[in-house]
Amino acid sequence: MSKKFDFIVIGGGSGGIAGARRAAEHGARVLLVEHGPLGGTCVNVGCVPKKVMWNTAQVAETLQLASDYGFGVETGGFQWRKLKSARDAYVERLNGIYARNLDGSGVSLVRGTGRFVSDHIVEVDGERYEAPHILVATGGQPTVPDLPGAELGITSDGFFTLAEQPHNVLVIGAGYIAAELAGVLHGLGSQVTILLRKDRLLRSFDHTLHEVLMEQMEAAGIRILRGVSVSGLQRSADGSLGFSASGGDSMHGFDCIIWAIGRQTSVASLALENTGVSLDDDGFIEIDAFQNTSAPGIYAVGDVTRKPPLTPVAIAAARRLSERLFNDRADAMLDYDNIPTVVFSHPPIGTVGLTEEEARERHGDAVRVYQSRFVNMRYAVSAHKPPTVVKLVTVGEEERVVGCHVIGDGADEMLQGFAVAVKMGATKRDFDDTVAIHPTAAEELVTLR
Ligand SMILES: Cc1cc2nc3c(=O)[nH]c(=O)nc-3n(C[C@H](O)[C@H](O)[C@H](O)COP(=O)(O)OP(=O)(O)OC[C@H]3O[C@@H](n4cnc5c(N)ncnc54)[C@H](O)[C@@H]3O)c2cc1C
Repeated sequence: MSKKFDFIVIGGGSGGIAGARRAAEHGARVLLVEHGPLGGTCVNVGCVPKKVMWNTAQVAETLQLASDYGFGVETGGFQWRKLKSARDAYVERLNGIYARNLDGSGVSLVRGTGRFVSDHIVEVDGERYEAPHILVATGGQPTVPDLPGAELGITSDGFFTLAEQPHNVLVIGAGYIAAELAGVLHGLGSQVTILLRKDRLLRSFDHTLHEVLMEQMEAAGIRILRGVSVSGLQRSADGSLGFSASGGDSMHGFDCIIWAIGRQTSVASLALENTGVSLDDDGFIEIDAFQNTSAPGIYAVGDVTRKPPLTPVAIAAARRLSERLFNDRADAMLDYDNIPTVVFSHPPIGTVGLTEEEARERHGDAVRVYQSRFVNMRYAVSAHKPPTVVKLVTVGEEERVVGCHVIGDGADEMLQGFAVAVKMGATKRDFDDTVAIHPTAAEELVTLR
């Protein structure tokens, strides 16, 4: 006999928890299945601990600026262990809050690995559960390549378990996680090398963003190796770590190597072969605009689908799905256009809409770009003068803003409001008609000429 519910959610991360709670709010009997800590990637090994580390590096940078502002500061050094235990305690508090919120919403929680027996039956530790609607929100995990010695490297998951600060780190990868971890470690005083298979970090971002980021990282002392294809990792006789590359090159002397080469979906444990759910060639669950998979009654949201792998995206898709299934909102669906995002690099990046390249590809000569490069007043009294760059990509005679890109101090907090404007279809004239807030970096976006 199986226990019956209206909605079973597999995965208690960003998307799963949001979808489960919203469905329960509308009166559905909901079961959530989770085999790890509640909160998933974001809370435990993603956004949350990452942002604590980024904040830590920001504090380090402010301390460096302190003497320019007239302070004599003796810090006594940075204690990685102390910070890690405070960060872990914060994450643990969040795990508890998530458990209490689920309980408060009336969601039943079962701990264990969910596995499909058929399209409507899920088994967890030998117990069967049945529902007409089942949501897969099992997210993903970091990729480790199949190369000799690959296990000598860690991933972003391992980064968050490091008990001591590594001093000479190699970060392999070109995505935002590589950029963020490299920036944090460098900001806290580690020597950092980034290894790129091609020539650019953040390849899919607007070219101005990756050019300025790489320029600033190199100016700060991060070494960037371009065009290197790693063929394996080794441990030397002195205990240090190194890599060899396909061209025959090699480099040693690292005490930590981090693989940040992408993520793959967590679908292996689900036994999807017992369902009608199809995957694409890269292992993402195929969905339509309403998060329906190819099996009626089974849905997927978040990183397990080929959609922007961001927490608010998983949450928004899951909530809309629950509104559609349990609140008669037949048209509820997520519009995936113009999703803003921030890279917590040093300096941070905020971006929404089309890159200049994408806009030119779609709209050709109708594209007009406005850009400004300046030094944030934070550095007015310092010899250190890192640039901020703001950029608007507009299209057509009315100059509709289709892309807004910022790199520099404050970009992380600046973009959310501008994303509203871009989503609403604002034009350059709307930006110009908005009175500036002075003196800020954000005002440059409404005074561009
Ligand atoms: C280092 C890092 C930094 C990040 N920073 C940001 C950021 O700053 N901003 C942002 O928006 N996003 C960030 N992300 C991305 C964000 O964490 C993900 O997009 C988000 O967590 C996806 O949510 P999800 O619900 O799809 O999956 P997850 O949050 O990964 O949740 C999936 C859950 O399913 C569980 N699970 C898997 N299989 C089963 C099974 N068979 N049975 C039971 N449970 C199962 C897992 O244990 C997990 O808890 C970051 C990610 C990483 C790795």
